[in-house]
Amino acid sequence: MNAQILDGKALSRIVRDRVKDRVAALAAKGVQPRLDVLVAAQDPASLAYVRMKRKWCEEAGMISGVYEVNEATTQDELIAKIHELNADPAVHSVLLQHPLPKHLDENEALLALGPDKDADGITPQSLGRLFADLPGFRCATPLGIMTLLAHYGIEIEGKRAVVVGRSVILGKPAAHMLLQKNATVTIAHSKTRDLPALCREADILVAAVGRAELVRGDWIKPGAVVVDAGYNKVEGRSGDVGDVCFGEAAEVASWITPVPGGVGPMTVASLMSNAVDAAERTVA
Ligand code: NAP
Repeated sequence: MNAQILDGKALSRIVRDRVKDRVAALAAKGVQPRLDVLVAAQDPASLAYVRMKRKWCEEAGMISGVYEVNEATTQDELIAKIHELNADPAVHSVLLQHPLPKHLDENEALLALGPDKDADGITPQSLGRLFADLPGFRCATPLGIMTLLAHYGIEIEGKRAVVVGRSVILGKPAAHMLLQKNATVTIAHSKTRDLPALCREADILVAAVGRAELVRGDWIKPGAVVVDAGYNKVEGRSGDVGDVCFGEAAEVASWITPVPGGVGPMTVASLMSNAVDAAERTVA
């Protein structure tokens, strides 16, 4: 293996330690940061992510309330719950864990969520602030990616970046954050022609696709930095599998994120950091 590891697990520990210090400083002012989560009760993967988020929040001294929504939850009940959390001064931030049950309108729920409590940075208000280059909460996963690149001193300015995936929570904001750091960015998607050739142009390649090991070693420019945001379940294999074939890519890349232990832990650490920001704003 030639590539060095962008170690999200280790860096998330550092970010979470900083969060813990900030939580202690808030405690001295009588404030305990609280991040509440709405999650689909029938989705085992979501419940597992939420359990981990809650554990890390509690380790840092934060409170994390969890509300399960299920097939019986109506849209009106969901919106009423969001309004209740918006109005509760003890709740500093709220996360809508994607995906909510299919019968619920997630966009309407995100529009209802107060932008001051959007620690995940995925409401239209937060995304608008990102695209307008205004301060605001930044989406947790792309923020985690940018924190990882900064920590390892990866130069971005002037580099050619390719982001594969254009979702609102990941691909698009990741591309914009790279653009803000003066990369020249291309966003690829399922209709992109000759994706391997495009990827081979990238000095920084971000895979945010949701297709196990789609990106192969020969799609990667020698010396490129490869960030794999993918988490995929593959029959017959335990754990999560990334969007990049790690074994092949690590032979060619200069730096690479592993799955697990790369982007995933950085997402949770970034969410926690944003949640503490939200609490700090209430005492500023
Ligand atoms: P998504 O909403 O399903 O978006 C996937 C994107 O990939 C779409 O833009 C799609 O293109 C594109 N795509 C699909 N197949 C493709 C192909 N064969 N070639 C090129 N592009 C293709 O997924 P997401 O929510 O962004 O998540 C992407 C991955 O990241 C998933 O594995 C997810 O589990 C993972 N994820 C990880 C974290 C984390 O904390 N690490 C957080 C969120 C998501 P179209 O737009 O044309 O359909």
